[in-house]
Amino acid sequence: MRIVLVGLPGAGKGTQAAYLAKNLPVPHISTGDLFRENIRQGTELGRQAQEFMRAGQLVPDEITIGMARARMKQPDALDGFLLDGFPRNVFQAEALDQLLKDDGTSLDMVLDLVLPQEEAVTRIAGRRVCQDDSSHLFHVTYNAPQEPGLCDVCGGDLYQRHDDTEETVRKRLEVFDRVTSPITEYYRLRKLVVEISALGSVAEVAERSMVALREHGLRADREDTRDCDP
Ligand code: AMP
Repeated sequence: MRIVLVGLPGAGKGTQAAYLAKNLPVPHISTGDLFRENIRQGTELGRQAQEFMRAGQLVPDEITIGMARARMKQPDALDGFLLDGFPRNVFQAEALDQLLKDDGTSLDMVLDLVLPQEEAVTRIAGRRVCQDDSSHLFHVTYNAPQEPGLCDVCGGDLYQRHDDTEETVRKRLEVFDRVTSPITEYYRLRKLVVEISALGSVAEVAERSMVALREHGLRADREDTRDCDP
């Protein structure tokens, strides 16, 4: 099962991917998370990626594709994956196609989470992430933690990503329009794209995602949207 999630920054790709990965027999692979992990660990790759990320720019393709390829080759991803944040331009989409072709496989579906731009800005600027586990996501208004600044799930400190400030968000949205949105058309021509609205609660969007997967002939291990919203 090989799925790519696309949509504006803030559409909820990370939240939905984390939820779907719990229900599907494949791992969630987020290039943004992989970069952040490298930065945290002080690796050379993290050092190279950092300045681009802070500026809301894309990390160069050769760095990104190499990192994504290495992750997809790991044993847990041999039967598939849920890609979040990769590919982010047509060159990366072509590289992914080639990689899958070399392995004798191909993508099953591209899930497009559709969200108006202004809603994306509001969502991202209020987003808070758990320091200990980036799949624990909160929002100062829409999904506030019980204790301000602390993760409800594990008690870790919450922080605002450097690239989630309003100024950087606007830059990221501009990059999305110019560079990333053409990949949807690229996949649409191959009839892989299924659009769903990203408006509403996490549970509502998760339910739409599961319906979209089912209609595409992809089956989940289990389906339980009860734990989507805190
Ligand atoms: P995300 O967590 O997906 O919003 O990604 C955060 C940042 O990581 C992006 O704004 C980019 O700077 C970088 N990044 C993540 N994925 C990619 C990618 N596929 N290509 C280039 N840069 C990426």
